[in-house]
Amino acid sequence: MMVKKARKAFDFKSCLKRNWLLIATIVSVLLGIGLGVLVREYASLSQLHKYYFGFPGELLMRMLKLVILPLIISSMITGVAALDSEISGRIGLRAVIYYLSTTVIAVILGIALVMTIKPGVSQSADSIDRTGSTPDVSTVDAMLDLVRNMFPENLVQACFQQYKTKRKEIEVTKSEGNSTVTVTAVMTTIPQENKTVDYKVVGLYSDGTNVLGLIVFCLVFGLVIGKMGEKGRILVEFFDALNEATMKIVQIIMCYMPVGILFLIAAKIIEVEDWDIFRKLGLYMVTVLSGLAIHSMVCLPVIYFAFVRKNPFTFAWGMVQALVTALMISSSSATLPVTFRCAEENNRIDKRITRFVLPVGATINMDGTALYEAVAAIFIAQLNDYTLDVGQIVTISITATAASIGAAGVPNAGLVTMVIVLTAVGLPANDVTLIVAVDWLLDRFRTMINVLGDAYGAGIVQKLSKKELERMDLTSDVDVVNPFALETTMDDEECEKKSYVNGGFTVDKSDAISFTQTSQF
Ligand code: ASP
Repeated sequence: MMVKKARKAFDFKSCLKRNWLLIATIVSVLLGIGLGVLVREYASLSQLHKYYFGFPGELLMRMLKLVILPLIISSMITGVAALDSEISGRIGLRAVIYYLSTTVIAVILGIALVMTIKPGVSQSADSIDRTGSTPDVSTVDAMLDLVRNMFPENLVQACFQQYKTKRKEIEVTKSEGNSTVTVTAVMTTIPQENKTVDYKVVGLYSDGTNVLGLIVFCLVFGLVIGKMGEKGRILVEFFDALNEATMKIVQIIMCYMPVGILFLIAAKIIEVEDWDIFRKLGLYMVTVLSGLAIHSMVCLPVIYFAFVRKNPFTFAWGMVQALVTALMISSSSATLPVTFRCAEENNRIDKRITRFVLPVGATINMDGTALYEAVAAIFIAQLNDYTLDVGQIVTISITATAASIGAAGVPNAGLVTMVIVLTAVGLPANDVTLIVAVDWLLDRFRTMINVLGDAYGAGIVQKLSKKELERMDLTSDVDVVNPFALETTMDDEECEKKSYVNGGFTVDKSDAISFTQTSQF
C-alpha cells in the first residue's frame, strides 16, 4: 500500500516535470481569460492603457517571429540535404498528395455542413453590422503573385517583403510617392457599365516574409549542397549548427510562453467591443466550428489510423502544446517552432521528415482555412438570397482550396484570400466585412486545425517513407566508401533518439530538440 502511494507520488512528480510547460500554458490560458473578464468588468481602460496591457503578449509574438527565418532556412536546407534527391522527391510527392486530399476533404465537409445547417438563410446581409474594409485582391493577380513569389528577385528582400500586384485605373496619373512602387505594364481591360476601363498593373512589394520563395530556394540549395560531397559539407554543417542554435533559442522562448499567452488572451478579451455580433453570427460560427471539430476529430484521425495503424488521439495529445499555441496566436507560421518540438520530441517523428514536411505544410497546407472559406462563401451567398448552382459550388471548392494554399500562415490571412472565392462566383467582395467581426475567434480555431493537419501529415509521410529511411540508415552504416552517407546509431533505452550523420554532420535528436519554421509574415 505504502509502496503504491509512494509510486503514485513519484509518478505525479515526474509527470509534472515532463509536462510543466503544457500545464503552465493551460493554466495561463485560464488565468488570462479570468484576468481579461475581471479587467473588462471592473476597470475601464483607455485605448492607450489597453495597448500597454497587451505588451507582454506582444513580446511573445515578436520572439516567435524572430526565430522563424533562421528556422525555416536551416531546417529546410539540412532536411533536404540529408536525403538523396530521389527520396526527397518521393517524400515531397507524398506530402503534397496528403495536403491536397485533406484540404479537398475539408472543403467538401464545410460545403456539406453549410448547405445542411443553412446559417444565412434566416438572416439578411442588412441585419449584420459591417466591420473593417474589403481587402483589395484580384484572383488572377493573386494566383500569379503566388507563382512569382516562388522565385524572389532578391533573397535578402524575400526575408521581409513579398511581391503583391496592385491595379490602378489608367486615368489615375498621380505620382506614387513611394519608392518601392514600379509601373510594369498595361494589363487589363474590363467592361463596366458599357465603358471600357483600362488598368495598369503596379508591382508593389508589401511587408511580410516571402516564405514560399525562401522554401523553394532552400529546397534547391539543400539538394545541391547535399550532392556536392566534401565541398558542400561545410555548408551543411553550418546550417545544421544554425538549426541547433535556433532550436535552443526556441527552448528559451518557450519558458516565457505562459506569461505571454496569459496577456495575449487577456488583452484580446478586453479589446473586443461588440459581443452582440456573436449572437447574430452564432449559427455561422457553429457551422465553422463544427466543421473544424469533425475534420480534426474524425476525418484526420481516420486517415492517420488508416495509414499508420496507431492511435491518432495519442498522436494529437503529443501535439497539444502546439495546438494551444496556435489557438492563442492565430499563426501557423509563428507556431512552427513549437510544432517542431512536439512532433520530434513527443511523437518521435524523424527529423528528416519534419524538417522537410512541416515548414512546407505550415505554408501551404491549411485545411481549417479551406473549410472556413467554403463555409463563409456559401453563408454570404445565403445572406444575399443568391442560389448557387452545381458549377458554382465546384468553383467554390476549387477556389477555396487554392485560396487556402495562397494564404500565409499569419493571423486573418484567410479573410484576405476569401475575396478570391467570393469574386469567383460573382458574390460581392465587400460582404467580407460582414464576417470580419468574428474572424479573430474563428481564425484561432482554424489555425489550430491547420497545425494539426501538418502534424498528422508528418506522421503519415514518415510511415509511408519508412522503408526508404531505413534503407538510407542501413546503406550509410555499411558504406565505407562514402563518408558522407547517413548513419544511424541506436540507443537501447532511447531507440527513437537516433543520431544520424549526413554529409559529415551529426544530428542528435535528443540535442537538436527542435527547429522552427514559419510562413509568410
Ligand atoms: N491564421 C491562419 C494560419 O496561420 C491562416 C488563416 O487566416 O486562415 O494558419
